[in-house]
Amino acid sequence: MSVRVRYAPSPTGSPHVGNLRTAIYDWLLARKEGGKFIARLEDTDRSPERYVPEGIYDIEASLRFLGIMPDEWWVTGGSAGPYVQSQRLPIYQAEIERVIASGSAYRCYCTRERLDEMRKAQQERGTPTGYDRRCRFLSPEDRARHDAEGKPSVVRLAMPLDGVTVLHDEIRGDITYENRLQDDQVLIKSDGFPTYFFACAVDDHLMGITHIIRGDDWLSSAPKLVQVFHALGYPLPKFVHPPLIVGADKKKLSKRHGATQFSWFMEQGYLPEALLNFLVLLGWSAGDENRELFTIPELIEKFSIAGMSEHPAVFDYDKLNWINGQYIRSSEPGRIIGLCLPYLRKAGLIPEPPPGDASDEEKRIYRETWLDYARRIIPLEQERMKVLSEVVDLVGFFFEDLDYPNGYEPKAVAKWMGVAHLKPLLEKEITAFSALPDWTAAALEASVREITEELGVKFAEVIHPTRVAATGRTVGPGLFETLWALGRERTLHRLRTVLEKNDWPSTGA
Ligand code: GLU
Ligand code: ZN
Repeated sequence: MSVRVRYAPSPTGSPHVGNLRTAIYDWLLARKEGGKFIARLEDTDRSPERYVPEGIYDIEASLRFLGIMPDEWWVTGGSAGPYVQSQRLPIYQAEIERVIASGSAYRCYCTRERLDEMRKAQQERGTPTGYDRRCRFLSPEDRARHDAEGKPSVVRLAMPLDGVTVLHDEIRGDITYENRLQDDQVLIKSDGFPTYFFACAVDDHLMGITHIIRGDDWLSSAPKLVQVFHALGYPLPKFVHPPLIVGADKKKLSKRHGATQFSWFMEQGYLPEALLNFLVLLGWSAGDENRELFTIPELIEKFSIAGMSEHPAVFDYDKLNWINGQYIRSSEPGRIIGLCLPYLRKAGLIPEPPPGDASDEEKRIYRETWLDYARRIIPLEQERMKVLSEVVDLVGFFFEDLDYPNGYEPKAVAKWMGVAHLKPLLEKEITAFSALPDWTAAALEASVREITEELGVKFAEVIHPTRVAATGRTVGPGLFETLWALGRERTLHRLRTVLEKNDWPSTGA
C-alpha cells in the first residue's frame, strides 16, 4: 500500500512553527516512500479565534516558502476532494447516520444550562467532570418525542464503558488508556458541523491516509479518535506523534520563548532550506551521525519514522541562526543580494525601483546608483549575516547620508576622533586617495601603509580612525574593501566632512 500522509491545518492565522514541522515530516515521508502528500483544511470550528478566513493564505504561503507542495489539496484539487472540511458536510452527515444506527453514537439533547449545572455539581463534589451520559440511555419513546419537538441536539460517541483502548504509536509503541476515564465525545455539534474527531476519522479514511502524523498534544485524547475509527468500522491507520517542542526551560514552546508564528521566520529572513533543516532535526536524527546540516535530497534519502524521538526537542534559536548563517554563507552572492534588496528598500536605504514604464535613462540611473552599489556591498557582509534582515544594520552605513558627527556612533567618535595624528592622517588620505589611479582595495591598502609609515604610528592607529571617519562605526568588513565599495566620491566626502567639522583642539593643531 503506497504511503499517503496529510497535513491538516486549521485556518487560525500564520501556522505555529511546530505545526509546519509535522507538514515537513509528512512531505519527507511521502517523497521518501514515493507516496502522496495531501493537505486538508480543518475549518469546522467556526469560533472567531479558530476561524480566520485569511489564515488559509498564510498556510499556503508557508508551504510555498518551504517548497513542500502538496500533491493533493484545496488549491489544486485531487481525486479524494474536496479538501476543505466545511465543503464535506454531506459526507459527515451520511456517515454519522450510519454510526447512530449501529448504536455507537447517539443524539444528546442536553441544553447548555443543564451541562453547566452538571459540571458545577461535579466540581463541587470533587468528581471528574464530563458528560453524565443521560441521553445515552434515553428510552426510544423519549428520543422520538425530543426529535418530534425538534429539540436541538449534538451527536456523541458512545464510548465503551469499560476495558481499554490501545493506541500503537510508531514512535512510542503501545499506549493503553482506560475507557471508563473517557468522555462521550461530541462528534457533530448542534450547528451540524463535525468536531475534529469525527471529521478527522472520516477524512483520513476516505482520503486513504496511511499515517497520521500530528502533534503530541493530541496523544491524551487519542483513545477517542481510535474509538471513532472503530465506531465507523474503519481500519486504523498508523499513528505517529512527534515529540513536543520546548523552549530552553523545557516548557512547551510559546511566545514567552520568542516568536513562534511562521510568518515571523519568513520576515526575518531565514532561508527555506535552513528552516526545513532545522525543523526536521527537532525530533528526528539521522542515526549515529552528529551532523547538523543536510541538503534536502539527503533528508529525503535518510528520513524515516525509526529516526524519530519521543523526547521533547528544544527549539534553540541560536542553533537556527547558526544553521541559517551557514546556508547564507554557502549561497551564491547573487541570491543573497536579491533576497536582501527588499529589506534595504523597506528600511528606506534604497528607493523603490522606477515603474515599468519609466524611461531607460531612469532605469539605468537606478541600476547604476543603487543596484550596482548594493551588488558591491552585500557580499562583504554575507559571511557574517545570520538572518537576511540583519543586512539593514550591517550595511546601513554604506547608504546613510552620514554627516559627521550625525549618524556616527558616539563611542567610536570618542575613542578615535580625538587622537593626535587624526588631522594629518585625514589630510594625507584625502590627498592620496584623490590621486589614486585605480580605486581598488589593494591600491588603497598600499596607500594607507605608506601614510602609516610617514606618520610613524602603528597600522592599527590608522586603520581604526580611518574606519570610523569613513563609516561612523568601529566594526564592519575589511577596511580596504569597505572603502573600495563606498567608492572614491563618498569616501572623500566623508573624510572631508570629518576634517571640516571635527572639534580640533586649539593647541597642537
Ligand atoms: N486541525 C488539527 C490541528 O491543526 C489537525 C491535527 C491533526 O493533524 O490531526 O491541530
Ligand atoms: Zn444529553
